[in-house]
Amino acid sequence: MSGHTASDKTSGPWVDISLDALAANYATLRAAAPDAEMAAVVKCNAYGLGLAAIATKLAEQNCKTFFVAYPEEGAALREVLKPLNADAAIYVFNGPLPQTMALFQSAKMAPVLNSLEQATTWAAETDGAPAALHIDTGMNRLGAPLSEIDAIAALSGLNINLVMSHLACASDPAHPKNDEQCKLFGAVAKDFPQARASLSASGGALMDARFHFDLVRPGVALYGGSPFDIDEARLEPVAVLRAPVVQLREIAPGETVGYNASFKATAPTRLATVALGYGDGMPASGSGRAQAVIAGGRARIAGRISMDLISLDITDHKNPINTGDIATFFGEGIRLFEAAKSCNTSAYELLTGLGGRVDRRYL
Ligand SMILES: *Cc1c(COP(=O)(O)O)cnc(C)c1O
Repeated sequence: MSGHTASDKTSGPWVDISLDALAANYATLRAAAPDAEMAAVVKCNAYGLGLAAIATKLAEQNCKTFFVAYPEEGAALREVLKPLNADAAIYVFNGPLPQTMALFQSAKMAPVLNSLEQATTWAAETDGAPAALHIDTGMNRLGAPLSEIDAIAALSGLNINLVMSHLACASDPAHPKNDEQCKLFGAVAKDFPQARASLSASGGALMDARFHFDLVRPGVALYGGSPFDIDEARLEPVAVLRAPVVQLREIAPGETVGYNASFKATAPTRLATVALGYGDGMPASGSGRAQAVIAGGRARIAGRISMDLISLDITDHKNPINTGDIATFFGEGIRLFEAAKSCNTSAYELLTGLGGRVDRRYL
């Protein structure tokens, strides 16, 4: 065992999380939309990186408005934010259900109302507690249809302080649907003159000012993931996925590696077996395609990714590799964008898929 440093002592995979890079990405987004408030989306355990540490760092950057998907996430967030900013606004994308009404009120969260029915119930059962309204401008996922907007605007006792919509095609800034949704949203938002307006997530934040309205709500870009179909160099890597080599071996031509023998050596081949697998969130779709950086060079995954193990082909490596050496799968030497592409997936899925066994280490 050589090449260890104290912080490398681990038997399994871990992710180094740079809170400074998170703060830098938040600043980059703020500079890209200087006239809007920059909120933060911290749903799904802050895209897999840990709600408490991420929300704390963002609150320290003066982020005052947070979005989650489920009310339980919002209640946990309220506990995190209490000592930092008791007045922080927490919006919950998935509107209230009969069984979650009480939780919304005890944690002082604002639902994002998605229908006339939800708006009617909220107005009737709360005493003018603030809420957001999601207007569906063409995604047909969540949000009130245009046919319900007049009736919602006319409800008495309803206190809408934010109207929002969501772009379906922001991954391609040139897509004509972005303009259509933007114009429609701008027109319908006028029915709620007392409310602030929010259209954009990460993609729209980095598009032109027409998309920014009063408040922008990025998620993936905060965490270093490009929201676009191409990489976004302005974003710093926040998460670095690493795992140690647990065994080394050499195989002869004709021998195979791993399940289904999908890799067959055509020459003498050196392999490093690494403690990381699809059980940790390294997608099996990266089998034979994704790469790691180890000992100053790149190595391709040989054969199938297993639940707990990956074989790297290190035949061409110039530097010696030993057990205990650390392989890096994304975030340093390999952009998250590239890793996601070589696994046929997105930065969103790679980050949120990081498994429970992967130690989160904050730098
Ligand atoms: C998840 C989500 C966001 C954040 O999206 P990113 O692409 O990660 O920036 C914003 N708005 C809504 C409605 C969402 O569901």
